[in-house]
Amino acid sequence: MIGRALAIAAACLWAGLAGAQERPPHPPEPAQQDEAEGSSARPPDKPDAPQDGAAPPEEQADAPDDAEVHGPPPPPRWYTLRETDQEYAACRLALAVLGTVYREEPPLTDPDDRDCGIARPIRVTRILPDLSVQGGAVMRCDTARALGFWVRDFLRPAAATLPGAPRVTGLQPGSTYDCRARVGTGKARPRLSEHALGNAIDIMGFTFQDADPLRVAPRRDSGDRTEAFQRAIRGAACLFFTTVLGPGANAAHANHLHLDLADRRGGWRLCQ
Ligand SMILES: [Zn+2]
Repeated sequence: MIGRALAIAAACLWAGLAGAQERPPHPPEPAQQDEAEGSSARPPDKPDAPQDGAAPPEEQADAPDDAEVHGPPPPPRWYTLRETDQEYAACRLALAVLGTVYREEPPLTDPDDRDCGIARPIRVTRILPDLSVQGGAVMRCDTARALGFWVRDFLRPAAATLPGAPRVTGLQPGSTYDCRARVGTGKARPRLSEHALGNAIDIMGFTFQDADPLRVAPRRDSGDRTEAFQRAIRGAACLFFTTVLGPGANAAHANHLHLDLADRRGGWRLCQ
């Protein structure tokens, strides 16, 4: 028993140290976030201790049991995705290699949903030095990194096989950061969208030097080079993103590619 107790104590100590080391200094603790960003980042308080006459008898009886069974509320989803200093530095290094043009922004939260937000958001204006994200887009660094490698290593070479070998000069984004539920799931109560965490970007089309823009559209069985291009870049996107949806996946994705970094059990990817 003593040995087991020591092992547990050691594990707790290690976990505490690890947590202290990995906690990034920039995203405020939820308690600090309360003051800076309003109530959205505040984990719901534990139920107040029932006061005499303040609550119905059932609630007074249930509150202690509920606290015992469920414990404190989990941290907001956005906060669980915060990068460690090392992870963030590695990601920014990758963006430097890609030549991504971006700026860091203050932590993002939403007053309507405590789970929405980004701990260390960046606003990307150029994903490569000569390839713009029209209007700029706010996302997590990981999302920008995945986007950058996909664009550099697959999208641009694939575009060079189109007639006239046009050079891709820009992405036309749809939704980027957006605090909302998933669409197109068919479920009455869909889960939070990856857009609400800065993990997703919708791409409506591409612009080229000396060629007309190309919109994402249903191209199934059109049998032309453009269909092959869209298929190729969509397939390659699944090497970098864990979710890739587009025309044919469902009606909600008929006119754009949805790319996200959803973290699924076993590393499973959803590419349709
Ligand atoms: Zn989307």
